[in-house]
Amino acid sequence: MKPRILNAWSSVRKDPEGTPVSVISLESTGVPHSIDVERPLRIGPGDYLIRTTLKGVGLTMAEDEILAADGLMRRFAVLRGPSPETVSLEIRAEFETEASFSLAEGMPHLIEITLSGKPLLALMSGRRIAVDPGHGGKDSGVKGPVNLLEKDCTLAIARELAEIIRSCGGVPLLTREDDSYLEPGLRLREVSLSSPELAVEIHLSGERDPLARSYHIRSIPHCPRSKALAGSISKALRENMGIVFGPVEELSGEGSPGFPLARVEPVCLTYFSDEANFRAPLFRRRLAQGIMNGIARYIRASENGGSALL
Ligand SMILES: [Zn+2]
Repeated sequence: MKPRILNAWSSVRKDPEGTPVSVISLESTGVPHSIDVERPLRIGPGDYLIRTTLKGVGLTMAEDEILAADGLMRRFAVLRGPSPETVSLEIRAEFETEASFSLAEGMPHLIEITLSGKPLLALMSGRRIAVDPGHGGKDSGVKGPVNLLEKDCTLAIARELAEIIRSCGGVPLLTREDDSYLEPGLRLREVSLSSPELAVEIHLSGERDPLARSYHIRSIPHCPRSKALAGSISKALRENMGIVFGPVEELSGEGSPGFPLARVEPVCLTYFSDEANFRAPLFRRRLAQGIMNGIARYIRASENGGSALL
């Protein structure tokens, strides 16, 4: 019987040097005749196509496009063809990065295509990113229907985000790492001393009506860089989580801290299913990864001289 691809998924790992890598895993009933990984082809800003062709193998799984959105790989499609007994992978990467493959024989065989995270490390290395988990201590913020508190949720997202920033070589600067109360207006004072590149404030939204749902993204008024940062995070969270924000709103009563700042409210805590989703670690991880993707794309666009590249 001809070999067949049964299943495909993606994951993020670290290579032996500690560099983050994106890996596509394919389970196959046999060994393909050949695996050809092409050089990245530039489709647009921050968008590269890496075509991979596996010959002498068919497809049992349905053709599929799978979202990765892990900061390195946007998504990949598993397709039949272009010739009979051929399967092609169309991988969309955020960087012009190297891809390689490996094959582990077994039952089933495991084919892995690995994208190097070196360009992401080069982009983020040494960047100081301030993260402000909203509320804390006596200030609980919004309360969910099953009693989750905003202050605990914002800290959970901030911790995940800090871990992702660190894994890309960046330096997270958290305004609080525990349940401390911080005076409003002075929250960013400490981290400002370290001259962060940008800051993200994390909050959750709440509504009086338990059936209402709202999400907000805000930036410092009259600050195009803050607006570009907020816009980039909004777009990335829509890609990662399907969250639809309205236009970027303006923060009221905040002076400019001297660096771009965005406030994101990606969860409506008073809405029962948002609160339930928040309890799942994978949900929190994907939220943090979405915020991170927005930050990284904003930095990349700034490096390239304009928000048009977002
Ligand atoms: Zn809040």
